[in-house]
Amino acid sequence: MILVAYEGIEHETMQFIAETLGKYISVLDGGTLPLPREAYDQERNQWNAAVMIGSIEDTDNMILLVTHVDLFVQDLNFVFGVADRASMNALVSTNRLGSLDPTIARRRIIKEAVHEVGHLLDLDHCPDSRCVMHFSNSLSEVDEKGKEFCPSCTRHLEKVIELRGLY
Ligand SMILES: [Zn+2]
Ligand SMILES: [Zn+2]
Repeated sequence: MILVAYEGIEHETMQFIAETLGKYISVLDGGTLPLPREAYDQERNQWNAAVMIGSIEDTDNMILLVTHVDLFVQDLNFVFGVADRASMNALVSTNRLGSLDPTIARRRIIKEAVHEVGHLLDLDHCPDSRCVMHFSNSLSEVDEKGKEFCPSCTRHLEKVIELRGLY
């Protein structure tokens, strides 16, 4: 899979995400992209996640995009991230994951990145509250879960990775 940063994301953040995802799948550095201005919604002062994902050229590769802008999708006030299984591209934002403690902020973005990649690899939300695939809609829920897949999700993930020849 390919990791792509949008302008404004520090290289270090991408490295931490790459290290964690690298435990499960091979990760390539896709560099940095400018923000697609057409995704900005002036009325909401937010960025449309679907338009951002749609602005990425379709490839055979899975792509994870990382941004610092505030994301929304239709009918939701905000999202931490989204995964589009049709294009196999996902997008996560650090915007609402901030903390004065950089270690906590880093742990949160890693969890959200791994979570969305899990969705791309066919995983649904997991009832195990420690699993990274557990649904989280608030910072306390993000902090509560781990950054790893539970044994059941790991088994499913390994099967999908093998079937799709991703490794
Ligand atoms: Zn989810
Ligand atoms: Zn799980």
